[in-house]
Amino acid sequence: MSVTPLEKWIMEDASINGRDSMEKYQADRIKEITNYVKNNSSFYRDHFRNTCTTGISSLHDMESLPFTYSEDIAGFPSRFLCIPQKYVKRIVTLKTSGTSGTEKRIFFTEHDLSMTVDFFTNGFKAMVDENDRVMIMMPGNTYGSVGRIIKKSLDHLNIRNFIYGPLKNSDDAADFIAKNNINTLVAMPVQTMILSRIKKSVFLQNIKRVMLSADYVPEILIKKLKTEYGCQVFTHYGMTEAGYGCAVECNLQNGYHIRENDIYLEIVNPETGNVLKDGSWGEIAITTLKRQAMPLIRYRTGDWGCFETSGCQCGTFLKTLKRSKGRIGNRICFEGGRHINMIELDEVIFAYDSVLDYNMEISGDSAVTALYMLDECMSDTGKIEKSINEMFHDNSINTNVVVIARKKEDLSFPQNTMAKRRIISHNLL
Ligand SMILES: [Zn+2]
Repeated sequence: MSVTPLEKWIMEDASINGRDSMEKYQADRIKEITNYVKNNSSFYRDHFRNTCTTGISSLHDMESLPFTYSEDIAGFPSRFLCIPQKYVKRIVTLKTSGTSGTEKRIFFTEHDLSMTVDFFTNGFKAMVDENDRVMIMMPGNTYGSVGRIIKKSLDHLNIRNFIYGPLKNSDDAADFIAKNNINTLVAMPVQTMILSRIKKSVFLQNIKRVMLSADYVPEILIKKLKTEYGCQVFTHYGMTEAGYGCAVECNLQNGYHIRENDIYLEIVNPETGNVLKDGSWGEIAITTLKRQAMPLIRYRTGDWGCFETSGCQCGTFLKTLKRSKGRIGNRICFEGGRHINMIELDEVIFAYDSVLDYNMEISGDSAVTALYMLDECMSDTGKIEKSINEMFHDNSINTNVVVIARKKEDLSFPQNTMAKRRIISHNLL
């Protein structure tokens, strides 16, 4: 058992030696960064107009600062910019999940991107060494893209790696794995599952380890990759707003450690905004401590999060975040406050090896599930339909399952992008 390599890096980078000095460091950075944004970003000049930012001397003090919301960025992203445009090295445009269709833009300087490279470099130390060969199934066509950043991190560690891009074609991906002697994947969870199910023998022979990222990871998927494929499964929690990377698992693979030298993370009640005690599930809010282009203060991510109360068995003083359960809004709400989260549906539906993916669409009192299945093992269809019906049984919802059969040699996939999976609801609940 070894302590997460993030710990040594963070101690050196932040010149700290334990939990107390970590928190003192974070409070000092928060004071600095709030003044920096107040002086340099027109959004925060207004946002903090009535807030005293110079009086922050502890992490508790920052709880008086107002939150920043996704809609704030979507409205006027350039108002967040703290530097002249000429220093911006990467702009990422994100579609918002709201109905307005507005876009968010996130800006990075070279320094901002290099901090993420450092984080990934040290995160990967727990996972791979010079004997490994890594296939990066993330977009990597442009400068500063997540694929390029991962590549740079692995290059620093002298680990052979190849940018492949998101899954589009299973034959091609399997050939690539065999030809390049790949033993490790960095990929999205459901794309990894699809590839493992369609190309089982290639996966079993070659893949020893996977790093799942860019969306929440259903526990059933981790279990299957471990027990049926003998893979080590690492998961990562990140988002573009955090500079792609935020927190990653050590080699115990039981919860993430955060890049605490650069991101301060709070768990807040999604309704009241009150900061919750460790051990409670709530919404993750992040504050970036050293970002130059576009620092964010108490940014509400919309993601579920919870701190472990007992810490990680690896022995680090860094905090441990439980594995993500995905987006708070990614659920079906019923009258009376009941709801079903998509991750709960995943646990039931992905338990069947014949399933490649599914979409669920809610309209009024009906739920339509489009089930993408392997055409050679359709016998599970009835059982899956029964399992879905049972989940909705008490909620006066009519369920309807539409099966879409896919051949193994089929070239196209239901999931060939980096979009996060979500339930589509046409209801206003
Ligand atoms: Zn650990």
